[in-house]
Amino acid sequence: MARLVRDLGLKTCLEGVVEKLEEDYSRWETFQKVARTANHCDLGVVELMPSSTDEEFAFKYVNGHPKNYLQGMSTVMAFGALSDLRTGWPNLLSEMTLLTAIRTAATSVFVAKLLARPNSRRMAMIGCGSQSEFQIVAFNELMGVREFTVFDTDPHAAAKLNRNLGHLNITVCESTAEAVSGADIVTTCTADKLRATILTGDLIEPGMHINAIGGDCPGKTELAADVLTKGRVYVEYEPQTRVEGDIQQMPADFPVTELWRVLERPSEGRTTETEVTIFDSVGFALEDFSALRWVYQMCQRHAYGEPIDLMPIMPDVKDLYGHSGLVLSLV
Ligand code: NAD
Repeated sequence: MARLVRDLGLKTCLEGVVEKLEEDYSRWETFQKVARTANHCDLGVVELMPSSTDEEFAFKYVNGHPKNYLQGMSTVMAFGALSDLRTGWPNLLSEMTLLTAIRTAATSVFVAKLLARPNSRRMAMIGCGSQSEFQIVAFNELMGVREFTVFDTDPHAAAKLNRNLGHLNITVCESTAEAVSGADIVTTCTADKLRATILTGDLIEPGMHINAIGGDCPGKTELAADVLTKGRVYVEYEPQTRVEGDIQQMPADFPVTELWRVLERPSEGRTTETEVTIFDSVGFALEDFSALRWVYQMCQRHAYGEPIDLMPIMPDVKDLYGHSGLVLSLV
């Protein structure tokens, strides 16, 4: 995956995934959708994310363990598969740790293009971990955002981001409030398994678009309740976000709009320069489906990847026993 991304360039990869997201969100009603399964422990969660059309099926295995860095492992790690739903034959088994960072950044931009002010030039990035550079590059390359103010409670993380993206206009700030002040777009991408309040209502300015990525599990939020009442809240798949998103802290009938409705009817999106828009992102299986579809297309087009012996190919498909060499010799 890293070779593919280096060869094609991150911008091309992000554009490719955004294109697939646009295609798939536009045919939302043709998807078989389900909220992901999540197996929790006190340190984190392992999730399975399936989705399909009538023809293709995809799933992702992904974890979320904010303290994993203490054991030399990432907070988020993933792999997944894309298969033919008509036969069940898997066509692609793929790494998805790097791919998740790309698809999450692509999703952020896909949504911001629908909801943020088109002339947005400055973004605050709160949380400078694994996802952060991908977010910044996506907003810079695909949305023309030129100025980034960043903050992380871990100064090493902010310094790492600054080092990796030295060619961009980045200001490392001393606090969330300093980073957020005057921003057109605010992206929160922190990891802590608690009800955090990274953003509070007093920090929100007219016209801001909030891209809240890190609150994605029961008991793990980033936005104070008074942020969620500042503007209209947009979600990927309502049944999943009610449980996992920042809106888990709101009443069950708190109004939200699913993103696909904005594609269908743009008046469901931003209508004035001054309103606040809030994307309560948790990550939905359809986005991984789109990303895997793009990877498969690239593998076919540019001959990446290699065949692996995962499924049996047998001269007599009913003779699994014989093919497996289990028939005892009588001599
Ligand atoms: P990471 O652990 O690499 O980085 C998280 C960073 O947040 C760390 O550098 C940490 O120091 C910082 N942080 C924690 N508390 C903070 C605070 N109060 N203020 C400022 N910074 C703070 O994690 P990552 O891989 O970058 O993922 C970030 C979050 O995004 C995770 O919670 C993950 O579950 C979530 N995520 C969501 C999606 C989605 O689709 N919505 C996709 C991928 C990851």
